[in-house]
Amino acid sequence: MRSDPADFELIAPGTLHAVISLLADEPGQWLPVAGGTDVMVQYAAGKLPARELISIWNLPELRGVEILPGEIRIGAGCTYTELREHNVIAEEFPLLASAARWTGGIANQNRGTLGGNIVNASPAADSLPALLAYEAELIVVSVRGERRIPYLGFHTGYKKMNLAPDELIRAISIGRRFSGYLHHARKVGAREAQAISKVCIAALGRLRGGKIEDVRMALGSVAPVPLRLTELEQIMKGKAVEPELLQLARETAAAAIEPIDDIRSTAKYRAAVAGNLVAEFLEHLRDCGNTA
Ligand SMILES: Cc1cc2nc3c(=O)[nH]c(=O)nc-3n(C[C@H](O)[C@H](O)[C@H](O)COP(=O)(O)OP(=O)(O)OC[C@H]3O[C@@H](n4cnc5c(N)ncnc54)[C@H](O)[C@@H]3O)c2cc1C
Repeated sequence: MRSDPADFELIAPGTLHAVISLLADEPGQWLPVAGGTDVMVQYAAGKLPARELISIWNLPELRGVEILPGEIRIGAGCTYTELREHNVIAEEFPLLASAARWTGGIANQNRGTLGGNIVNASPAADSLPALLAYEAELIVVSVRGERRIPYLGFHTGYKKMNLAPDELIRAISIGRRFSGYLHHARKVGAREAQAISKVCIAALGRLRGGKIEDVRMALGSVAPVPLRLTELEQIMKGKAVEPELLQLARETAAAAIEPIDDIRSTAKYRAAVAGNLVAEFLEHLRDCGNTA
């Protein structure tokens, strides 16, 4: 079914205050549009549920990266190009820089935003495992004010999330405390560029005295929501990376995920690759020897 443009209304109030006021006056009526790279795909497929669209593209309050002594705050309206080109993100949060580089093509990176990736909530979204590994927090805004929530737990099921219809994500905050860690990301897709992942991993780790002191691992495309492997992380802490531990890691990762068969891959392949990606990261950590 094709969409008829005459059935839609798009407005651009231009200030955050005007946008959140309208969202509060008519909750659920207006659909925010940032870069539009997901919304326009739904529109073209005749699957866009909303008829009233409100542009949040270029709202100054959602743009820019704020560098504070203990954290960075990335405006939800930052594009992948901005993330890719930001020197603090490249140096301190390379998992996010890699995800930005791997997302779509250049045109998509110039329009697609981090906030849009979070709220579109695809299990295959590239930036979300990085946000889990870095323990990002979301700064959410409405007429009631701001609230700050951990990104871990924000997605409660397939395309479900802890966000009211009158709320916007304003920024994503990440603590600047990952120097000395190995940052490891890998995307497995049908080809090197412009592919949706079959499985992806974002992981961080640090050794002390040859043993794992801290480790964070998150996978995409293996469950209804991007998954942090918290149980596996606890098992790994305090241990040296040896063959038995790698085998245990593979098995625990495979047990933690809920992969499906779909157009891009099979559940069996995804389970095998997820285990391999976790083991590859741990071997890399052992070999690089990043220490506190
Ligand atoms: C050709 C193509 C290739 C792609 N490749 C990839 C890929 O490789 N990896 C990947 O992860 N994604 C990919 N995508 C998906 C898409 O580009 C990303 O999800 C992008 O981050 C969406 O951002 P946007 O600003 O365009 O979102 P929009 O389309 O504007 O919005 C998406 C959803 O988020 C909501 N929203 C947006 N911003 C906010 C906010 N601040 N607060 C509250 N709600 C908000 C909107 O209401 C809407 O529901 C691709 C898309 C296309 C068209």
